[in-house]
Amino acid sequence: MGDASRDILRRARQQVPEWSPSQVQDALSQKNDDLVLIDVREKHEWNEGHIPGALHVPRGFLELQIEEAVPDKSKQVVLYCAGGVRSLMAGNTLQQMGYENVISMSGGFGQWKGGGFKFVQPRAMTETQAKRYSRHVLIPEVGEEGQFKLLDSKVLLIGAGGLGSPAAYYLAAAGVGTLGIIDADTVDDSNLQRQILHNTERIGQYKAESARQTLTALNPDVKVVTYIERLDETNVRRLVAEYDVIVDGTDNFPTRYLLNDTAIIENKPVVHGSVFRFEGQVTVFKPYEGPCYRCLFPEPPPPALAPSCAEAGVLGVLPGIIGLLQATEIIKLLLGLGDPLVGRLLTYDALAGEFNELRLYRDPQCPACGEHAHPEDLPTYAEVCAVPARS
Ligand SMILES: [Zn+2]
Repeated sequence: MGDASRDILRRARQQVPEWSPSQVQDALSQKNDDLVLIDVREKHEWNEGHIPGALHVPRGFLELQIEEAVPDKSKQVVLYCAGGVRSLMAGNTLQQMGYENVISMSGGFGQWKGGGFKFVQPRAMTETQAKRYSRHVLIPEVGEEGQFKLLDSKVLLIGAGGLGSPAAYYLAAAGVGTLGIIDADTVDDSNLQRQILHNTERIGQYKAESARQTLTALNPDVKVVTYIERLDETNVRRLVAEYDVIVDGTDNFPTRYLLNDTAIIENKPVVHGSVFRFEGQVTVFKPYEGPCYRCLFPEPPPPALAPSCAEAGVLGVLPGIIGLLQATEIIKLLLGLGDPLVGRLLTYDALAGEFNELRLYRDPQCPACGEHAHPEDLPTYAEVCAVPARS
């Protein structure tokens, strides 16, 4: 340290009061709302460990960020760095900015840690992850914390078809850590007009397996769990219980009712989508917060009135739009952001170029989620409907 630095430090020490780590610990243990603890070290130092409850405002950004972090200048601001020098100088700066009650912790984080006081080590992204997810991390409502939430999330897709393809593709890109895909079908030429997880070379392969290849090639962070089976009474409970959110990409009624009733028993949200020629719709069935599928349709329609995509046709781009609306709702649910489409049916008419919204209401008499409902005892419709249970 040169003479000038020593001089600055000496003056800072005269103006900024210092507390020892044990004094800081005492003050923190009183849980005083007027006390704010600020770590002024660099990002890599913070990542190696910091005091629980501290805010991170690096010295280099102090003047720019402190007023957002601590708008009330009458608060008691305790600063710390690694050894107690940077925090003294930072304290001096805060005083010049009008902060009335600034304290620097002597000895810094080094002495805090050496004294055996508690510290936390935040989870850090790898360099590759920091780059891959940088556009998420830049959104204040998502940030690193939100990205870790996504990486820890598990989403089950019923079907790797028209809706499941775009939904799974973007969820994998977004870094949703575990994607379960249940589909017993194989890739057929007629799927490729819309089911973008698959390609010409994969014709004849299992869709779940083809999906796994595409998704892990896009993002190796994502674990894809495949189930080459149909969703039925023997596996539905176990599968739904294991995931946070379920994507309904089914085009048949037996599966839809089975999924609905199980999701209510397991209290898991289902993001529902469907497409028909030029029209699509999407909604979120969140148990007991909005209606369920049976609130709207207590019984499945007769098979003749329920055409599948195979019979009715669909514009190839339409499931892309609806599947991505589903993916968006899933991310909102996982991060707890915004207003999910609970109790609202969003409809899209491709020919008119119009979105509309219908309010949906819970039925107090609903056989699945109503007051006196017993969802465990409901019929599964597998034998009632003539439509085969394909996803
Ligand atoms: Zn209901």
